[in-house]
Amino acid sequence: MSGLPMKRCRQCGQIKPLDQFRQNLTNTRRSYAYDLHDPRGYRPRCAICEITNRTEPKADRRERHKARDTRARHARRYGVTIERMERFYGWELDRIEADILQVRDQGCPTCGHPVLNLPDIHVDIRDPTLPPFYGVNAGPICATCNTRKGPQTQLAMDCAEAERQAIARTSELRLGEQGRLF
Ligand SMILES: [Zn+2]
Ligand SMILES: [Zn+2]
Repeated sequence: MSGLPMKRCRQCGQIKPLDQFRQNLTNTRRSYAYDLHDPRGYRPRCAICEITNRTEPKADRRERHKARDTRARHARRYGVTIERMERFYGWELDRIEADILQVRDQGCPTCGHPVLNLPDIHVDIRDPTLPPFYGVNAGPICATCNTRKGPQTQLAMDCAEAERQAIARTSELRLGEQGRLF
C-alpha cells in the first residue's frame, strides 16, 4: 500500500493509487500545479493505459478511445464493472469500434444521414431506465437521432430478451432480481 489517495482511470475505469498515474506539469514545467496528494495534479489515464495507447496501431485509435471512454462512462452511470459491461452487456471494444467506423463510412443506421465528424457520432443509451445491452439499448447513431427518442415499448421487450440470453450465456443466474440486474 502506498498510502496515496486513489483515482479512477478514465480509460480502464480501475481505481488505482496516484503513483500509478503520471503527474501534470505546470506551464513553466518547473513545478507541479498541485500538491502530490491532490488527484487533480495527475493525468486522467493511468500509466499502463498511456503505454497501451502508445503501442496500439495509430490508425483507428480515436474510434477505439471513444469506445473505451464511452463504455467507462456508462459503466459508472449504471454502477457496474467494465468487465460486466463487456461480458454481460456486450460492450466489446472491437465491436463498438467497428460500428463507429461503419457509421462514419456509411452514415447513421437510424436516419441514414452521413456523419463525418467523430464527435457527432454518439454511442449512447437509448433508454437509461433499461439495462445497457449493446446493440439493443446502445450503439452508435448520429447526434440528431440521439436526442430524438421514439416509442420504447419494443425496446423494453428487446432488452428483456437480450437479458435472458445474457444470463444464459454467462450463467449468472440471479433469480428474483429481475429489473435489478445492473
Ligand atoms: Zn487505466
Ligand atoms: Zn441519425
